[in-house]
Amino acid sequence: MDLYTEGDPIADTKAPDGPVETRWERRRFEAKLVNPANRRKLTVIVVGTGLAGGSAAATLAEQGYHVKSYCYQDSPRRAHSIAAQGGINAAKNYRNDGDSVHRLFYDTVKGGDFRSRESNVHRLAEVSVNIIDQCVAQGVPFAREYGGLLDTRSFGGAQVQRTFYARGQTGQQLLLGAYQALERQIGLGNVEMNSRHEMLELVVVDGRARGIVVRDLVTGEITTEMADAVVLASGGYGNVFYLSTNAKGCNVTASWRAHRKGAYFANPCYTQIHPTCIPVSGDHQSKLTLMSESLRNDGRVWVPKAKGDDRNPKDIPEDERDYYLERIYPSFGNLVPRDIASRAAKNVCDEGRGVGPTGLGVYLDFADAIQRLGRKAIEAKYGNLFEMYERITGEDPYEVPMRIYPAVHYTMGGVWVDYDLQSSIPGLFVIGEANFSDHGANRLGASALMQGLADGYFVLPNTLPNYLANVGSFGKVDASHPEAVAARAAVEERIQKLLSINGDRTVDSFHRELGQIMWEHCGMERSEAGLRKAIEEIRDLRDQFWQRVRVPGDGEGLNQSLEKAGRVADFFELAELMCIDALHREESCGGHFRAEHQTPDGEAQRDDDRFAYVAAWEYTGTGQPVLHKEDLQFEYVHPTQRSYK
Ligand SMILES: Cc1cc2nc3c(=O)[nH]c(=O)nc-3n(C[C@H](O)[C@H](O)[C@H](O)COP(=O)(O)OP(=O)(O)OC[C@H]3O[C@@H](n4cnc5c(N)ncnc54)[C@H](O)[C@@H]3O)c2cc1C
Repeated sequence: MDLYTEGDPIADTKAPDGPVETRWERRRFEAKLVNPANRRKLTVIVVGTGLAGGSAAATLAEQGYHVKSYCYQDSPRRAHSIAAQGGINAAKNYRNDGDSVHRLFYDTVKGGDFRSRESNVHRLAEVSVNIIDQCVAQGVPFAREYGGLLDTRSFGGAQVQRTFYARGQTGQQLLLGAYQALERQIGLGNVEMNSRHEMLELVVVDGRARGIVVRDLVTGEITTEMADAVVLASGGYGNVFYLSTNAKGCNVTASWRAHRKGAYFANPCYTQIHPTCIPVSGDHQSKLTLMSESLRNDGRVWVPKAKGDDRNPKDIPEDERDYYLERIYPSFGNLVPRDIASRAAKNVCDEGRGVGPTGLGVYLDFADAIQRLGRKAIEAKYGNLFEMYERITGEDPYEVPMRIYPAVHYTMGGVWVDYDLQSSIPGLFVIGEANFSDHGANRLGASALMQGLADGYFVLPNTLPNYLANVGSFGKVDASHPEAVAARAAVEERIQKLLSINGDRTVDSFHRELGQIMWEHCGMERSEAGLRKAIEEIRDLRDQFWQRVRVPGDGEGLNQSLEKAGRVADFFELAELMCIDALHREESCGGHFRAEHQTPDGEAQRDDDRFAYVAAWEYTGTGQPVLHKEDLQFEYVHPTQRSYK
């Protein structure tokens, strides 16, 4: 089966050359500026109000641009970022434990299994220190030590303590900071806020992004919104798997619509499976719950040494327990990166040593920590997470070990962007989890918040003006332009099509089945045979969807089935591309583990000679995408077999 063709290679032409630590400073200096009097004449659309979109909209408005902001929730501060738990990385070295910008850069490139760009990652590490200052100035209540200094803790893939946190609610506190900055600009009239609006199409005129088509989710009204540039900050697509730790609403529609209009989609198969989630308990579930990685600072992961040992964990003596992460990876122990911890959990469960009713679980045990530090100290650090666990499982983790299992959590793939965060469509910028940027094949814990806020507060506000400085020469276009009219008509037609099928299956039943295919064949372990099977199954199911889906109600008002139907339709197309990407990448790296490519001791086996590139996929509309390769160069962190032993 000819699944794709190969096109011309691409390159990121925006990052300056020269020493890596000077590149961002040079880019900032060389980028064109827009004079303050001209800024207010320019309009920027920002889709998304999470940490990336909220911080970008507030900052661009503060700079003087007119911003139109969109989210589908009823309030910008309900964006999925609010759910982030464990913390945010920054190379502040407050602990004097050997951290530095270079070490964060090194850890991130290595953690991503050498599949990210050095220029981008170095910039991220540089900017990380500013983020903490910015957020403290906003009043974000980071945890502090007794003396008043900011506290930090460890996260996976690092041997320094560089993770700043606010109990287990770091995302919430950071988002409240960004939201307040956004609200201030809304109050000043610089940001026009449109909540409960969903972007359903991108308007491209003469090859440039000039607007979006949105649906008011309450009234059903469809409008075309024009601007001088469009920024997507629409988050990740983990919900293609149906069950994930993401909020139920997270979807790929904004990115996918842009992809269909010409934006390349990069590395779609790189999915992060988080090792510490509450295990699936049955078919009734619609989402999974994360237990933050921060818990691995104090919790010890283990399974019984003997297969099928179903004794109460308290009755299993120490010498009959296998603290397998500490055994296999003595240097990093329980804090190995997520891809490694997840695969190790899968392996012990596959051996028949998993715990709990399904056998798909391992223990995360706090008994030692409680004995060493006292229950109060554990409560202060993780109280809300323990409470959440108890509410969901009915078990008290202060008394019995938590049971955890890996689950889909984050997507490293996304819309391809250059160093300026501009996609392959001029005028379309993509930030936060929606772009593919900085994490390579595996994101380190606490680095998504860092990247989202780096993009929104510091990077985009320096790179977008370079584009806007020239925008005057492109001429103004309004919603009557034929391309804008056609985009809107396409949205209306698609909605009518979804409503008219009137079949016999719910949207959710299709989504659940799609998720099962993806988890089985494009989840923690992938193989050629499995991926080929998945592509066939996805195509069949997609055909059925367009014949049998039933979307009750109409398009004239609130209709959540209709919203979901559009999103699931896009997930079908994305799922196929994810499998094609996973199939073509005949190596294992980070979160992409191909059964055929492993070292003798079961670790990911990269093939740098053939695959040290970003896979940027172009949509063709023929069912056969075109692959453009962007070669990755490593001048500072030389690719080696990753070892955490
Ligand atoms: C449970 C959980 C815990 C996590 N904990 C951590 C952590 O401790 N540290 C860390 O670094 N990372 C963590 N992460 C990851 C991190 O939270 C996310 O990667 C990050 O918050 C994404 O931010 P974002 O701004 O890119 O997108 P989001 O916060 O997902 O925001 C997306 C925005 O886009 C809008 N949107 C999307 N599509 C459309 C559309 N079509 N039309 C209009 N609006 C649209 C939404 O309304 C929303 O406002 C966690 C993730 C999960 C699931």
